[in-house]
Amino acid sequence: MKKYWSNRARSLTPYVPGEQPRDRQFIKLNTNENPYPPSPMALAAIRAAACDTLRLYPDPECTSLREVLGATYGLKPEQIFVGNGSDEVLALCFQAFFDPERPVLFPDITYSFYPVFADLYGLTYQEVPLDENFALPLEPFLEPNGGVVIANPNAPTGRELSLCGIRTILEANPDAVVVVDEAYVDFGAHSAVELIDRYPNLVVVQTMSKSRSLAGLRVGFAMGHENLIAALNCVKNSFNSYTLDRLALAGAEGALRDQDYLQATAMKIQYTRACTASQLKQQGFIVTDSAANFLFVSHPDVAAKDLLDGLRQRGILVRWWDKPRISNYLRITVGTDEEMQALCAATAELVKGR
Ligand code: PMP
Repeated sequence: MKKYWSNRARSLTPYVPGEQPRDRQFIKLNTNENPYPPSPMALAAIRAAACDTLRLYPDPECTSLREVLGATYGLKPEQIFVGNGSDEVLALCFQAFFDPERPVLFPDITYSFYPVFADLYGLTYQEVPLDENFALPLEPFLEPNGGVVIANPNAPTGRELSLCGIRTILEANPDAVVVVDEAYVDFGAHSAVELIDRYPNLVVVQTMSKSRSLAGLRVGFAMGHENLIAALNCVKNSFNSYTLDRLALAGAEGALRDQDYLQATAMKIQYTRACTASQLKQQGFIVTDSAANFLFVSHPDVAAKDLLDGLRQRGILVRWWDKPRISNYLRITVGTDEEMQALCAATAELVKGR
């Protein structure tokens, strides 16, 4: 069936995103989407941009959006790169900063797109085992390597590595780039953005998909030293000049102008996360400490796969991976209070049914 495919295409095992059901209504707690709508300012900006000027190409340099991002994060526009979702930004990081000769390091349990990017670009990598509590050991990152990628907070565990830990890794690797993927940072973790002016080898990647409720708009960004941002532009402009469309540029700017909305919705999610975690613990679940908009949970008496299937039958989607070390865990996105009540009622039934 792979006739006409290139050898590279034949060799790939693509990333599989969480299900986006089309048939029936589910409570969707499987892809870490935000349960609240985007800021009204984002929606108004998108509506205003849906006009005659769509016949024109968008600004290939995304200057206005980078200026607003710069003002928001205390950086110069030259220290900012934007892309079509942080997946694209991460893919460009793998191409811009890593070479096949030296392995890229990332944890064994982390965002499963990293090994896919490495394979796509013919890079080698080493997976650093997390400890039994899913904490990241620092020693392996002190050995020579060709670059580091860390999701912080990590996915799917939700665990946060301290900024002190990030600094240790940055200082041990002055000749390699350290990419910190902060897709979930706004839900209560500490951002490494404040380290950018001190470390020329640091790239911080964030997204509008989670805390700004704009997964459908596809906007991600990288922040770092101008030299690193120039490398990202060099690769991007060898691939696609117009990665962000006019609606995405406008909507992202609108969202950034409404920091109050971001704070309010992120706080709500943190509150709901704490309530859900305590209810699940009462039901006997082991709940990993999460600084993200999801919980990573396991039950000593009920297999995660059975919980996944039982929840699905009750109209609730969560995420499960058939992978070593985590096959008895579920990742549950934090939704609204009502959605999490429904989840906890369903898990209570499934646990009692044992
Ligand atoms: N990084 C991590 C750790 C993620 O979980 C995700 C979402 N799947 C992404 C990056 C990509 O998000 P997006 O492309 O929507 O910005």
